[in-house]
Amino acid sequence: MRFTHIYVEERAAGYPLAKEIIGKLPDAVIVPIKHYKDVFDRKKQDVASQKDHNSLIIAVRDGNRVFEGAPVCQSFGYQHFYYASSMMNCPFDCEYCYLKGMYPSSYMVVFVNLDDYVRDIDDMSGRRPMYLCASFDTDLLAMNSLTGHADFWKELARKNDDILVELRTKAAPEITDNIANVIYAFTLSPEEVVSKYERYTAPVSARINAAAKALENGAKVRLCFDPMIKIPDYKEAYKKLIEETAAKIDLAKLTDVSVGTFRISADYLGKMRKAYPDSEIAWYPYAVKDGVAQYEPETDKEMQEYVCALLEKHIGREKIFTWN
Ligand code: SF4
Repeated sequence: MRFTHIYVEERAAGYPLAKEIIGKLPDAVIVPIKHYKDVFDRKKQDVASQKDHNSLIIAVRDGNRVFEGAPVCQSFGYQHFYYASSMMNCPFDCEYCYLKGMYPSSYMVVFVNLDDYVRDIDDMSGRRPMYLCASFDTDLLAMNSLTGHADFWKELARKNDDILVELRTKAAPEITDNIANVIYAFTLSPEEVVSKYERYTAPVSARINAAAKALENGAKVRLCFDPMIKIPDYKEAYKKLIEETAAKIDLAKLTDVSVGTFRISADYLGKMRKAYPDSEIAWYPYAVKDGVAQYEPETDKEMQEYVCALLEKHIGREKIFTWN
């Protein structure tokens, strides 16, 4: 990924990781700043054009760094479900991404005080076994060669066997390790959705191949058919996707599969609509229930049941998790 500028917080500049990242981006213009929010939280930023002229912010994260999982997210049956935010924003540009409604800026932020995250997790020792989504508001595996954050969370998992770390991605990384409590979650969408709505992500065939190799190497692998997008011929598209996936991967060997239709906080959707007036996804007439914008309940049910039925031909129902 190309960054034109790197904004570096004064207090972050001395961290070895900050120096390492800056060293890998020799062409970017370095701009010292007092606090990352001075840049990230500015009002009236053009979040759409920032995606094409991206800058990186290197900062220290104060306050909360590990959060309870949101109700719109799949907890996979874990009582203690958390997510960590060691980076904000994503190198990819999915039209349906909730980050577009969540953050005032599209600039990526990398936090370099990773030791503080270790302390936070240590302080949560009463909340185990813990399911921790580390790649939540970003794609850590896609950025790992620059930031090393995916490696950091894997190492944390290695030292804490009562924490299951999930690294979710729309890239096609080569996974060579097989740590028992790290789960690699590959999000799969039909080619029609990838080419139209998932800008800069890896082709779905490459993601399937990467997942197949990870599984062969003994890693824990999850496939996520989530979010499902209601394209006009979604039945045919998802049927083809699942057939192609099953041809490459023995789905019964997966740790599990997640299925969920697109949903987003109504508040974020409002912000997305303002920032992206031409977005088909943002302007779909969703139903709003309990503050969550989603497809009509019948559509929602039909889509999830359809995909679950296709998957059940290859994997036990107990391994298929659906949203709501
Ligand atoms: S890969 Fe995920 S986090 Fe990144 S833009 Fe797409 S939906 Fe958002």
